[in-house]
Amino acid sequence: MENNVTYIVDTLEHLVNIPSPTGFTHDVIDFVKTTASGFGYSCDLTAKGGLIITVPGEKEEVLGLSAHTDTLGAMVRSINTSGTLNLIPIGGYMMEAIEGFYCKIHTRNGKVYTGTISTTMPSVHTYDEARTLERAPRNMIVTIDEQVENKEDVEALGISSGDFISLDPCFVHTRSGFIKTRHIDDKGSVAVLLAVLRKLSKDKITPKRTLKILISNYEEIGHGASYIPEDITEFLAIDMGALGADLNGDEYKVSICALDSSGPYDYDMTNRLIQMAKDHNIDYAIDIFPHYGSDVSAALRGGHNIRGALIGQGVRASHGIERTHEKGLEGTLNLVMAYITEA
Ligand SMILES: [Zn+2]
Repeated sequence: MENNVTYIVDTLEHLVNIPSPTGFTHDVIDFVKTTASGFGYSCDLTAKGGLIITVPGEKEEVLGLSAHTDTLGAMVRSINTSGTLNLIPIGGYMMEAIEGFYCKIHTRNGKVYTGTISTTMPSVHTYDEARTLERAPRNMIVTIDEQVENKEDVEALGISSGDFISLDPCFVHTRSGFIKTRHIDDKGSVAVLLAVLRKLSKDKITPKRTLKILISNYEEIGHGASYIPEDITEFLAIDMGALGADLNGDEYKVSICALDSSGPYDYDMTNRLIQMAKDHNIDYAIDIFPHYGSDVSAALRGGHNIRGALIGQGVRASHGIERTHEKGLEGTLNLVMAYITEA
């Protein structure tokens, strides 16, 4: 198992370092496609740029799995006369989560510039209201690491409104087994699913049902898995477990979500997942995520006639600088393996 965890953490590091805010996921999808093809599985792109990986099973019946590879990010809203950039967030997060952090600006002709995100009053030495200024998108700017003094200088770099901004992931793997980085949501689960494919391929394991694994690319804005192949009857989303307040999960457990903002998950699937976690001594928590939706929610809203459930490693400070532990990722891998080989 050690080996699997190392693979997941290394893959997660690789994934978080490929910029992929929602709408800008081509490079990361390419990486996942190349990796899954390397394990011998067929890959198809959906029209909206997601990936479907097929693993033949003992039965023709199809089990769908998903993890999303798009992340939070931003877009250039406009260029200020001073040569800084106004931004508009992509996905739901607090401005405090990006203040003071480094970013990249990706122009539409392929150039990449680095910058820093700050408020419009970024120094206590200069601005009386530096501390009290409301942390709202209208008060946030990007300072580009180029000698620019006005709007024309910025335009001369090829930067314009509508360019994507990606956030520095700040990846750290500690000796104590924690992984601290942005975008564990949901690249942690993408890494877990790649580890599942690696294991199936290496150990020549055939899952019970045929698997169609959707690597979705519009989840953070709500319609990730709005399209899934019609032959999927059961759909299991692998996405982060929310932590904190009165919730039961932690970074060492796999969260099994019973209900989120889209309502209760399928009763029977959720029960089976709980039973399998018990049978395999997988540390788990059953939880309720009031401010959360998943690829299953998107698929149901997209009109699919499916049963759906949601599991994933517990992630601290989600949509900020997130943290999880090797144990949570390993538990998620084990629960997915149990579900695809037994159910
Ligand atoms: Zn997510």
